[in-house]
Amino acid sequence: MSEVRVRIAPSPSGNLHVGTARTALFNYLFAKKNNGKFILRIEDTDAERTSQAYIDNIFDSLKALGLNWDEGPDVGGDYGPYTQSERFDIYPKYAQILLDKGFAYECFCTPEELEAEKEEATKNKKAYVYSKKCENLTEEEKEKLRKEGRKPALRFNIAKAQKAFHDSSILKFDDLVKGELHMDTDLLGDFVIMKSNGTPTYNFAVVIDDMLMKISHVIRGEDHISNTFKQILIFEALGAEVPRFGHLGMILAPDRSKLSKRHGATAVSEFVEKGYLTEALINFVALLGWSPSDGQEIKTVDEIAQDFRIGDVSSSNSIFEYDKLNWMNSHYIKMLPIEDLKERLKPYLTKYDLSELTDAQYTRMVEVTREPLTLLSDITDAVPYFFGGDKVEIEQKAQTEVLDTEVSQDVLKTFLKQAQDWNFDEETLHEKLEAFRAEYKEKGIKPKVTMWAIRAAVTGRTCGADMTAILAILGKEHSLARVKAAIK
Ligand code: GLU
Repeated sequence: MSEVRVRIAPSPSGNLHVGTARTALFNYLFAKKNNGKFILRIEDTDAERTSQAYIDNIFDSLKALGLNWDEGPDVGGDYGPYTQSERFDIYPKYAQILLDKGFAYECFCTPEELEAEKEEATKNKKAYVYSKKCENLTEEEKEKLRKEGRKPALRFNIAKAQKAFHDSSILKFDDLVKGELHMDTDLLGDFVIMKSNGTPTYNFAVVIDDMLMKISHVIRGEDHISNTFKQILIFEALGAEVPRFGHLGMILAPDRSKLSKRHGATAVSEFVEKGYLTEALINFVALLGWSPSDGQEIKTVDEIAQDFRIGDVSSSNSIFEYDKLNWMNSHYIKMLPIEDLKERLKPYLTKYDLSELTDAQYTRMVEVTREPLTLLSDITDAVPYFFGGDKVEIEQKAQTEVLDTEVSQDVLKTFLKQAQDWNFDEETLHEKLEAFRAEYKEKGIKPKVTMWAIRAAVTGRTCGADMTAILAILGKEHSLARVKAAIK
């Protein structure tokens, strides 16, 4: 196979998980690095667990992360359709080929019969593999079962395929990430490729699709390794070229258990709602199993693509460090161009009336409040005092520890008197406030204490953004109205 063609094949039984985003990214990087094609295929054969909302979420999340596909359900391509449920008429033809070649057989076992086999295995403390009871049914026996109303499933004949293409029961392949992997295929058991209702199982549909879509490399999570052995045998049985496989280590939570809701967000869209930047998220996800050759971790996807080699990907599990992601996110917030940041903060400012601020005031507000933000959503609680005109809500601590003191009351009265004559531009305010503090310092009041009084009156809080900027943004009228209201 000359052209590199890779795919991401999510099952839409949930929103796009960060683990799937990492798999998508590594496939995308591999395609970019090798001038190949990145394909999106929706594996929705399990109708009960599939929903359109999840399909939309997968599309939106991949796009938000910048992982655009060359071929897929929406953009089309030469090997479509790219949604498995639209490919149901394709699979029976290939199932028939396997049946004709003797690599598959009809199985009439009922769920109850199979359950009994499983129970027997459990009782004997043995790993369950199908008994192959139906492997050698005669035509008459099959006919009889059919007449009983039984509909057969199709099973893949592992031993037959293994014998046809390999010397022993051991199947080996050279994994792009993990090196040589092998398995005794006698342990796999003849698995169903077509269910009795005529729909394909995952392992069968995936091979037919990868074959027809000319997928050259399959990069996915290591939870699929046992499937890979089954899939290799199907490729071989069909006489198709077997793609190269690469299996990525799992992503674990900081406590080394499987990453789940109880650890925090797990779906890309949840991270976005919480206020993570997709640039930070994708950069972070890239570092789950891969490290840059220059040790410089902050990188765009394009920069990562330059440096990415699938052979460098670690074969072990990675830990999803939320703290590190938070650090990265705050870094990205600091680096974002101001106009961009202004736009991205808007969804988190809907409880305020942004029309109270001119564009210049809004810009300045964002400039002076961005520094401590870890998440975009942190802006919501950082800025209430920039809104509301003459009125501000006073937090209890600001009231009792600051505004209720005699010294604060004195500061505010003097401030109100003096500031009437000031211009409320930042330059003037800076100068005037310095002089004001100096005046109080002479009276033995620490500059910090002087400013606390003004801050508490104007913002209702004991800490926050630069006071000069706050006063300038609010303007003289609103600032002094608030000071007046705080004076008893
Ligand atoms: N639909 C499978 C999943 O979501 C895809 C596995 C594969 O990449 O083959 O796990």
